Amino acid sequence: MMEYEIVIGLEVHVHLKTSTKAFCGCSTEFGQEPNSQTCPVCLGMPGSLPVLNKLALEYALEVALALNCSIQEFTKFDRKNYFYPDLPKNYQISQYDLPLAKEGFLDVQTPDTDTRIEILRVHLEEDAGKLIHKDQISLVDFNRAGIPLLEIVSKPQINSPEEAHAYLVTLKSIIGYLGVSDCDMEKGSLRCDANISLRQKGAKGLGVKTEIKNLNSFKAVKDALSFEVARQEGLLQEGSAIIQETRLWDTREEKTVSMRSKEEAKDYRYFPEPDLPPFVIKKDMIEAIRQRIPELPREKCSRFMKQYGLSQYDAQILTVSRETAEYAQECLRQQGVDKKIISNWLIGPVSAAANSRNCGIEDLGLLPASLIELVRAVETQQISNLTGKAVLEEMLLTSKSAGQIIKEKNLAQISDIESLTAEIEAVIQDNRKSVNDFISGKENALMFLVGQVMKRTKGKANPKVVQDALRRRLTDA
Ligand SMILES: [Zn+2]
Repeated sequence: MMEYEIVIGLEVHVHLKTSTKAFCGCSTEFGQEPNSQTCPVCLGMPGSLPVLNKLALEYALEVALALNCSIQEFTKFDRKNYFYPDLPKNYQISQYDLPLAKEGFLDVQTPDTDTRIEILRVHLEEDAGKLIHKDQISLVDFNRAGIPLLEIVSKPQINSPEEAHAYLVTLKSIIGYLGVSDCDMEKGSLRCDANISLRQKGAKGLGVKTEIKNLNSFKAVKDALSFEVARQEGLLQEGSAIIQETRLWDTREEKTVSMRSKEEAKDYRYFPEPDLPPFVIKKDMIEAIRQRIPELPREKCSRFMKQYGLSQYDAQILTVSRETAEYAQECLRQQGVDKKIISNWLIGPVSAAANSRNCGIEDLGLLPASLIELVRAVETQQISNLTGKAVLEEMLLTSKSAGQIIKEKNLAQISDIESLTAEIEAVIQDNRKSVNDFISGKENALMFLVGQVMKRTKGKANPKVVQDALRRRLTDA
């Protein structure tokens, strides 16, 4: 059996979150009445002229800089010609030989690998309309035609479906931090095509690749690539040729199916867009945009590890989005509670509450100071850990403070030995056998006795205090 190496390249398209389209003033708002957001420019009427949206250009540059790309000083737009019903002009304004940015990289981590994936190019283009197929008819909605689209192309340096998944998660996280796209795959604001080929381990050249389209979730990317690895490996093992083609991922059947043989760039008859003059991106504009880039997830993660003593795993979870990280930071800044304990609360019960509500921890309406009050009540053993979780739920439901809930529901643990002595004595009287078992060395018997005291106090005694008191009382006796 031959051993193969997987070679994957990803082409990601991201909608930029501008309020108007790339080359006209039409609104980009999602979910509006079909064809209500169109004008002569985005409908490709003769005589209409495109004007570049400055914000779309700035957003594009911001992403390119965050991906460590070098910005090309001189750039231009080109027409990519093809005929399809969702493309009113019969060409797409895109960029061909002089893209906005080139030669960047993205550091991607999986549980087993930490790889730098090089970015080949980043360019700005416009989206096409949307076809809706219904029974025997097809409808077209041009609201999406002309929405600014950023294309980010990686070099074929990704070596597993897991790494491809991690690349997308990392890319989405960075773009989310920049706030230039909502990267919502369901709404089509992030789309991904994947190229994949196999080559004999150690070989230099690339094998014949297939391109997979219709990947509409991160899971679909991983599943489709895993399927394609197995399919190509099967063909190579039996000595069959791989055909260079575009394949579609069928989510229901969980397999890729052949769609068409791959077109080459020359089929698109690219030529410079005559309605948009080439332009120069000045150094001071690039520097001004560089200044806007916030602390990105990877740096924030290392800072959280260093500043708050968190593990990499914890820091990664808490920095997944800018909003989550800002909330976590507010909590971690609070004084008087160990950072690791706060982090455990955020990753544990608080995240669980957010997940069940389908939101981020920052959307729960829980003030950092309120959370800390609760954590402190548990840490000082005013309430048990289990009660603490119940109090958290109650806080989220009622917006009352932890202290208020503990008082109103009389949840405080009894930690004062004086108030527990009577119960402890009663348990000793009633359970002579267990007492003797403990005295003759059976440690387990003590836990049974603690359990009895807990029962008599309806769970309100502080188990640690009871255990210590019982041990002292029985060892002295
Ligand atoms: Zn328009």
